[in-house]
Amino acid sequence: MKLFNSYTQKVEDFKPMEEGKVSMYVCGPTVYNDPHIGNARPIVVFDTLIKTLEALGYDVTSASNYTDVDDKIIAKAIEEQKTEKEITDRYITEFEKIRTALGARKPDHTPRVTETMDQIIAFIDNLVKNGSAYAVDGDVYFRVNADKHYGEISHQPIDDLKVGARIDENSKKENPLDFTLWKTTDKGIQWDSPWGKGRPGWHTECVVMINDVFGRPLIDIHGGGNDLKFPHHENEVAQARMSWDTTLANTWVHNGMIKIDNIKMSKSLGNVMLAKDLINEFSGPVCRLTLISTHYRDPLNISEKTLEDSSKEIAKITKTMTQALLQLDLADAYDENGAKDETAWNAFMSAMTDDLNTPNAITAMQSAIKELNGSLRKRELDYKRINELYNALTGMLYVLGLDLDIKRATDEDKEMYRAWKQAVKEKNFDLADSCRAKLIEKGLV
Ligand SMILES: [Zn+2]
Repeated sequence: MKLFNSYTQKVEDFKPMEEGKVSMYVCGPTVYNDPHIGNARPIVVFDTLIKTLEALGYDVTSASNYTDVDDKIIAKAIEEQKTEKEITDRYITEFEKIRTALGARKPDHTPRVTETMDQIIAFIDNLVKNGSAYAVDGDVYFRVNADKHYGEISHQPIDDLKVGARIDENSKKENPLDFTLWKTTDKGIQWDSPWGKGRPGWHTECVVMINDVFGRPLIDIHGGGNDLKFPHHENEVAQARMSWDTTLANTWVHNGMIKIDNIKMSKSLGNVMLAKDLINEFSGPVCRLTLISTHYRDPLNISEKTLEDSSKEIAKITKTMTQALLQLDLADAYDENGAKDETAWNAFMSAMTDDLNTPNAITAMQSAIKELNGSLRKRELDYKRINELYNALTGMLYVLGLDLDIKRATDEDKEMYRAWKQAVKEKNFDLADSCRAKLIEKGLV
């Protein structure tokens, strides 16, 4: 498996620390509103990566957090006169619905900040004690100057970063780049700490959760959107270095951002598309295919056309697969556990293992669909070949996370099919047409 490592900025041969096992963490959402289609991209990208690694025989342990403590959550709770938990429970449920609709599996671990508070406070306390952090008036800041390697993951010179950070310059900080580990507050939900009542900053939770969930402060893969590279991931690594002398993950994987009709998606431009709206309009598999139609590192453009193209593609795959299964069933030749067509499967997997090249993998899948269609049109059907192509395609759909509605013919459908063929033989065209119409309606021919 080749993967682009954002840290080294190179495509590398992926090698996990423990043979056959992969540990993966992906930064999760702050749960205070409905996920937009941009939030859906990492769900799909990292689920596809997990399934590819599993197809290669790896045993993957995955984790993704829920940020359920944040100023935006507190503001929403006050606005709606609800508790923070009522707000976050609601949006975690919404997020999970989206994930399921997109055919993505729930990560093995989904820790929440509110459930990790003791570990977070102990972690910050250790940073203060070892001199990598300092407390001022009940707030705690990370001392960026303590980390000689700061800036390594976002690959930006420190001076450039400083210019950006000065915008929200805070006079309590020693350095404008220093970031908040603990914030004293009297607003909303708060916890007791050695520095006073408050809540933790965002950048600490993932570091603590990784160590907590995996039992060690270094994992194989850390993922997230490109927008998290700086400051979030830079700050995560800085804390890990100063706490345990690790870079938190050996491979850092970042997905590109989403554009709508070639324009950046943003609240201020008013072009934010909610994931649930797109799923309701086009279906989960159509949205998922759209999200993987572009290489994960490139910006992804979503438009009416890209969604309609995916819609047609999904319909075509579903129809061919349904017809193939019908022919296999009619001949009693379907073997679910039989061999996969090797050429088709290898072409697909060589694209997937090439830094998760989903566009090329989709092309390989389309070629297999074309071949299957060709095999179904032959006068003498080669059931072994049809079965092998069908099984290869089932495997591809699984790895891509496309859960399609492939119908299995009922006994009645099979009778109808035989009646159609018999009517054709007897030149009873009225009967043949009516049988055929019914089979078309069911997507079986
Ligand atoms: Zn994170």
